[in-house]
Amino acid sequence: MSEDHIHTQPWSPPEGYHQVESRVPGVVVFAPEPEHAPDDQAVSYACPNCGANTAYDVAAGGVACEYCGYVAKVKTAQVGRFADDFEFTLETLSQARQGWGTQRQVLHCDSCGADLSISEGALTTVCAFCASNQVNVITSPQETLRPRFLIPFKIPPEETLPRAKAWLGKGWYHPDALRSNVIVRRFYGLYLPFWTFNAMVNAKWRAQIGYQQTERHYNASQKRWETRTRIVWKWESGQVNLTIDDLLISGSAPQHLSHRILGELNPFNLNELVAYSPDFLAGWQAQAYETTLPEAWEMGKKNIRELAKKACYQDMPSNQVRNFTMHADFSDESWRYILLPVYLAAYRYEGKVYQVMVNGQSGVVAGSKPVAWWKVWLAIAAILTPGTFLTLIGLPLALLGGLGILAIALGIILFVGGAIISINLYQHVRKSESN
Ligand SMILES: [Zn+2]
Ligand SMILES: [Zn+2]
Repeated sequence: MSEDHIHTQPWSPPEGYHQVESRVPGVVVFAPEPEHAPDDQAVSYACPNCGANTAYDVAAGGVACEYCGYVAKVKTAQVGRFADDFEFTLETLSQARQGWGTQRQVLHCDSCGADLSISEGALTTVCAFCASNQVNVITSPQETLRPRFLIPFKIPPEETLPRAKAWLGKGWYHPDALRSNVIVRRFYGLYLPFWTFNAMVNAKWRAQIGYQQTERHYNASQKRWETRTRIVWKWESGQVNLTIDDLLISGSAPQHLSHRILGELNPFNLNELVAYSPDFLAGWQAQAYETTLPEAWEMGKKNIRELAKKACYQDMPSNQVRNFTMHADFSDESWRYILLPVYLAAYRYEGKVYQVMVNGQSGVVAGSKPVAWWKVWLAIAAILTPGTFLTLIGLPLALLGGLGILAIALGIILFVGGAIISINLYQHVRKSESN
């Protein structure tokens, strides 16, 4: 008998049964269908082998048990930038699913007021936002929209501390303690909420445009022809069309999370968006949006109007513009609610809280650092000294003649140049300190 005859009748499972993952190679296993659609059922993350808590493992790309080595790959589809979006209607809002799709708990921080979603049974005693230990666990209310898409963590947790250490060591105007001491002990992997918006914008502008005109006229006192330029203002109008693609607006309230630092983590590659599965969140923290969809869209429209204004200015034939007005019409607006991977660490230095973040997809580090101001003042003094010194030498010399005037002139140039460098330095340093 040839092998071909064995499998001629394809066996199909009885009704109500479906194929499940088999642990024995070559053996197909069927099990009864779950009572509810898997999507609506709270998923449990106890290890099927040993009962311990499993967690999403970045290197394995699946839910793994660190005690017995059990690994289950997350079954999800990569959807990228073409992930479905929703129109702006009440209907789409009410159709969207609620909660995380699994039983999770909320870690509430009494110190900064932040709420973080954590896995059931997770042992977390510190707030990732402010490093306070005044946290308590409450049960999750599940009343927010469920994210539809996310970018999974790509940078494994063990890479965060070396990256942060290198970043902390940079810059001469920070305290030496940042380089020598262990300031940041651990990062929390956090899925942060973002809204993305798409829209078509038609912007109509109207403004007075200035044109330079040169004209010749006869100067009677000098008895000669001269040219002079003047600006002629003309009312003009035009329109530009813009396509807004995946404008990102953070769903985190700025009082808990620095939006300046968050902005420096960009860009995220949205081509790597996958369909949401609670598996990705197992053992990880997440934040539900604090900024609601209407609030985020108001912020988004403000950003888009700025973009449209820039496009209008580029549309104009001259850069001499006054009395500019613009009317922007939005159409085909749509939104998505997504999660992006960020590692967050908060540390305290001399009583103040600083945040450091690592982009969980690209590894880019951004954050705030204390400043050793004495180093900055010393540097500014050094920058301003040559100019001051030269001017002071020049003053008595000037009484004697030309050399002194030259010294004063050079001194003033050096001083003004030094002052500009100092102001830039001050502003740069100031920014690195702020959250
Ligand atoms: Zn196990
Ligand atoms: Zn806190």
